[in-house]
Parts: sequence; structure tokens; C-alpha cells
Amino acid sequence: MSGADSLRREELEGSLYAVRERIAAAARAHGRGDEDIDLIVVTKFFPAEDLIALVSLGVTSIGESRDQEAAAKIEALRSSVGSEAMPLVHMVGQVQTKKARSVVRYADVVHSVDREKLIARLDRSALAAVEEGERSQALDVTIQVDLGNGQDEARGGVAPQGCEALAEQVAHSEGLRLRGLMAVAPDPAELDPRSAFERLAVLHQDVLAHHPDATWLSAGMSGDLEEAVAVGATHLRVGSAILGSRYSER
Ligand SMILES: *Cc1c(COP(=O)(O)O)cnc(C)c1O
Repeated sequence: MSGADSLRREELEGSLYAVRERIAAAARAHGRGDEDIDLIVVTKFFPAEDLIALVSLGVTSIGESRDQEAAAKIEALRSSVGSEAMPLVHMVGQVQTKKARSVVRYADVVHSVDREKLIARLDRSALAAVEEGERSQALDVTIQVDLGNGQDEARGGVAPQGCEALAEQVAHSEGLRLRGLMAVAPDPAELDPRSAFERLAVLHQDVLAHHPDATWLSAGMSGDLEEAVAVGATHLRVGSAILGSRYSER
């Protein structure tokens, strides 16, 4: 390991520790244990070396948001750490329908499922991938809900009233497994994160009534993980608080 590599590893170790402390404190404040909260470290825009370092620091869930970047980095990670040490790979960003076939090759979970056509394509692709030995099992998915006023299309997500129909479609898809709901908090000028996540939690209860196995609630990022823990989030997707700011996104 070069000097720069070991410095970066120390930096990641420190920020990872700080985020785990934040999660533990938030869980305590709401009478929850932190063992049922899964930290997904979102590594988009950061190099494969960071993923390798994170795995060596005990990270068991990695999040990515763009297919092309993810496919290459996940392959590099696998050849470095080996199949047995691979973390779970979560696709958290918007997925173009035509990328479904690629995503099912390396993703364990897709969080951003928000339309019929994507569900149909992921289902077919996951079944084909199992058939061809590229996957061992069905693809775990969460339905992404838009908690804002529907104006931010880049954020993605189905309107709350469309959620149950998509959940039903996933439940009838042999290649997919419905795990729960996901959301990105809207712009705080639209709605504050705590109120947004409370809305999500209510919707989650409705979905659970029909789909009792859909227990996951994927909500909370670097800036609002406490608000998400407060409403019962089971999966936090944290990037910049651990890896630093994403210069290339600016
Ligand atoms: C980038 C991203 C995150 C992580 O965001 P941070 O604010 O860097 O923690 C979480 N969820 C999704 C869908 C993302 O695209």
C-alpha cells in the first residue's frame, strides 16, 4: 500500500466511524437498536480503490448510481477482493430501461424501481441472468416513491398513489423480490425531510398490509439520516459524509 493509499484508508476509517456514531446516536434517541439499520456506502464518482479500502474496513453494502461506472468498478472490486469478500451491491440511482440487462449482472438490489416498463425489463433480465448462471437468485427491489410535488424528474420515483400498483406488479414478477420502499427527500423548500419521511413511513404501512415481506425502508442520506432513522428507516444510503464531496458533480 502506498503512502497516499494508507492516508486515504485512514480518512475513510475516520469518516465511517463518525457516520456509524451518528447512526447509533439517532437509533438510541428513538429507542431503536442500530443492528437493524443497514449502512449502504454510496461510492459514485469515487474510484475502485476506495471501494477496496471500504471493504477492508468492514463495509458490507456498497451503493452506485450509474450503470457504466458501476459495472467497471464492481468488476475491479471483485477481482481485487474475491467473490467471497464481495459486499452487497445496491443500485440506488435512476436506471434507464435499456440498462436493465447490464445492472442485473452485478447488482444485488435495485432501489430506484419506479415504473412498469422498468419492472418488466428487470424481471426478464434477472430471469435470463439466473438461467445463464450470471446470478444465483431473484433481484431484490424497492419501489422508489416521489415525496415531492413531482416536478423534479431527475430525482425519480412514482407518485404515492401509484405505489401499490407497482408493488403488486413486482410481487407477481418471478425474477424480482419486493423488499420495501425507497425515497430521496425532496428539496427542503418543498417539504422538510422529517415530514417527507413521515409520509413515506405511512405509505410503507399500507404496502406492508398487502406485502408483509416488504419490510425495508430505504431513506436517509448524509444530510438527513437522523430524520430517516426517526421514522424507522432500515437502509441508509450515505455518500459524501464518508467519501467527501463529489467534485465531478459540481
Ligand atoms: C448520491 C446518492 C446518495 C448519497 O448521497 P449523499 O448526500 O452523498 O450521502 C443516496 N441516494 C441516492 C439515490 C443517491 O443518488
